[in-house]
Amino acid sequence: SSFDSLGLIEPLCQALAELGYRSPTAVQREAIPLILAGQDLVAEAQTGTGKTAAFALPLLQRLAGGSAAAPRALILVPTRELAQQVSQSLQAYGRYLVLRTQALFGGSRTEAQVRKLEHGADILVATPGRLLDLIGRDVVSLAQLQLLVLDEADRMLDLGFIADMKRICELRPQGCQTLLFSATLSGAIDSLTAELLKRPRWVRV
Ligand code: AMP
Repeated sequence: SSFDSLGLIEPLCQALAELGYRSPTAVQREAIPLILAGQDLVAEAQTGTGKTAAFALPLLQRLAGGSAAAPRALILVPTRELAQQVSQSLQAYGRYLVLRTQALFGGSRTEAQVRKLEHGADILVATPGRLLDLIGRDVVSLAQLQLLVLDEADRMLDLGFIADMKRICELRPQGCQTLLFSATLSGAIDSLTAELLKRPRWVRV
């Protein structure tokens, strides 16, 4: 398929075919090879452009086959609705891979999320406040993170999460690949990028 020419492995291409995805969108064509190559990346992409798959597919591929005692990827999102959507997308794309995804968000009982985490998770999709709460309780560790995605970074700034985002980034291990997706670029996003990403590539669609 046209997805395999981007370098995506067969289990992902198979899932995409079954979901009815025929060809990659612009942001997917540009971002997927760069993310597979391990680059930090800033992408300006609005909802509806296929931005979720643009980071979710290469993220799944980079984790496939490995394992660790703590999560290896974190997707930070502004809202519980987005956390649920992104985690459903990861499960759909990753249906032929053996990776465990767990969504963590405020407004639901912490204890239930803590219990689910006891089974282990490869990928976390989380809102900043609840994640920091669980890190503070020693229920979540970011010590094994290989990949961090800041999704809808402009909305996280608008919602006042800047300090939380920086705090979470400080807990990344050295060399953690970091991706920033935003519907809009601004001076605030530029300075966040300069502070948190390493020689990022830029994608605009
Ligand atoms: P997003 O921009 O991530 O919110 O995605 C918008 C919608 O497009 C979602 O419903 C996806 O399932 C769908 N989608 C993403 N990539 C593709 C693709 N390559 N082909 C068809 N549909 C897609």
